[in-house]
Amino acid sequence: MNKLSPSRDAGYRGRLAPSPTGLLHIGHARTFWVAAQRALATRGTLILRNEDLDPQRSRAEFARAMLEDLRWLGIRWSEGPDCDGPFGPYSQSERRASYLEAWRRLRKGGFLYPCVCTRKDLAQAASAPNDADDEPVYPGKCRTRTDKDKDADDCMEPAGVNWRFRVPDGEVAEFSDLNLGRQRYVAGKDQGKDFGDFLVWRRDDVPAYQLAVVVDDEAMKITEVVRGADLLKSTARQLLLIRALGYDAPNYFHCELVRDSAGVRLAKRHDALSLRHLRESGATPEKVLQMVFQ
Ligand code: GLU
Repeated sequence: MNKLSPSRDAGYRGRLAPSPTGLLHIGHARTFWVAAQRALATRGTLILRNEDLDPQRSRAEFARAMLEDLRWLGIRWSEGPDCDGPFGPYSQSERRASYLEAWRRLRKGGFLYPCVCTRKDLAQAASAPNDADDEPVYPGKCRTRTDKDKDADDCMEPAGVNWRFRVPDGEVAEFSDLNLGRQRYVAGKDQGKDFGDFLVWRRDDVPAYQLAVVVDDEAMKITEVVRGADLLKSTARQLLLIRALGYDAPNYFHCELVRDSAGVRLAKRHDALSLRHLRESGATPEKVLQMVFQ
């Protein structure tokens, strides 16, 4: 792959991209704090994007809670669903038209194929995959299907079938992470590969996380993506989408994950470590930050 280099002309633009599928916990606090500090250090712009892509899992009350909890922690942003900005809307549920446009371009470009397999992982495609629930390598049953309608104007709606991005078999996606250094992932259709043909649109008409994030980061002119290390492999996938769509890649800074005392990555089910719970039990923002950076 081409070497990545900072590509956007204007100053630093970073983003916080929480999903309103549960309460934020101290793992999020760590990543978002780092993101906010990196934007401050360069006097850049910080954007808050509400990743409420999945209608089944997103809840308005979690969206309200995540904004409140981040503000309580001391993080400020200047573009977002609560304050608007030049590249809105800032909630993914309102950005369907942009995702559709990208899907159409990818389809016309021959990068996608319709997949009729029913797999458990389909349910999760609209969420960012974490270590344990990463999309398995697709064995390629539908990979050779030809998309004969790809140029027909009346077939330009994705609903009704799953759409996968066909990864070049053996393609190496490499990038230099600003925190973790050189990263290298191999794509393909055999189980030994790091990732396979991934979903970009679900048959129930929900765009996949991978597509939405790439389209939004481009539209919002993000220069640096700060997020958890559990999304490293997603970055590799996203770089393939970025190339197919002809976008410039942002820089990446993946943060180490916070683990619980048993070494398990924190998830939204760790309620006791949610910012909400800690705050209600009397913790101050300083105390929470001490906990995560100890
Ligand atoms: N919304 C994703 C999450 O909460 C993060 C996506 C990203 O940073 O690209 O896990």
